[in-house]
Amino acid sequence: MERITLITGGSRGIGSAAAKLCAEAGHAVAVNYVNNADKAEAVATAIRDAGGIAMTVQADTGDEAQVERMFDAVTAKLGRITGLVNNAGVHGPRGRLDELTNDEIQAVLNTNVLGYFLCARAVVKRMSTKHGGDGGAIVNVSSGSAHLGAPNDGILYAASKGAVNSLTIGLSQEVAREGIRVNTVAPGLTETDMPTTEVLERMGPQLPAGRVGQPEEIGEAIVWLLSDAASYVNGANLRVSGGRI
Ligand code: NAP
Repeated sequence: MERITLITGGSRGIGSAAAKLCAEAGHAVAVNYVNNADKAEAVATAIRDAGGIAMTVQADTGDEAQVERMFDAVTAKLGRITGLVNNAGVHGPRGRLDELTNDEIQAVLNTNVLGYFLCARAVVKRMSTKHGGDGGAIVNVSSGSAHLGAPNDGILYAASKGAVNSLTIGLSQEVAREGIRVNTVAPGLTETDMPTTEVLERMGPQLPAGRVGQPEEIGEAIVWLLSDAASYVNGANLRVSGGRI
């Protein structure tokens, strides 16, 4: 089957690594971004230079109209979507809950929760056999902080990832007989723009593996979950964290 995969937040970090690895595995890839057109274009160019198929698509995943436009644009250019990597995320302010403003809370929930729901809904309507589709796979990128809770640093972020975990559990069962598998990848601390350099340097040696992860190490798990090799894996939460529980 031809594979056409949309990766939200594909311009940087884990999403960019996943996009390149998906392309290496033969997927035509749509690289979504919200602000960094240049970085998204660089990812797509690298894929095309290696002989793959890639496009970029701008959309704020927390905006319903932009999400619908994005899915229509990808379908028009690449064809029927077979995979979604719900990856676009923000950490939001670091600190205690009682220091957060309403706007800060809303902004994190818009991208990390509403965005995942809007993209999942859009792709189910296109991939589900109930809607005339041919099936496919969704990978939701969550975080181990969902169960760690991240007190004094990022309860809001952690709770948003708890919602992602529940989305996978419920949706995987809802669409299991409609040709769609839904799984979670829960990365540990990974060297991207999201954690501060101070956190990466301080925490790395304390982790069971003795180091932080690289985006490609998360991307490999994403590609596997999208593949037929994972055909009986549904509703799983795959922790990729160098041993951190
Ligand atoms: P990153 O390097 O900060 O990249 C974030 C990506 O998300 C960028 O491509 C950004 O696009 C995009 N994005 C942000 N808000 C968006 C929006 N509203 N609409 C569309 N795209 C948006 O982050 P990362 O570390 O790769 O994180 C990727 C995922 O892994 C996130 O869900 C994150 O929570 C999760 N995760 C990361 C770690 C870690 O240690 N790094 C650990 C656990 C889980 P622009 O380039 O256009 O801004």
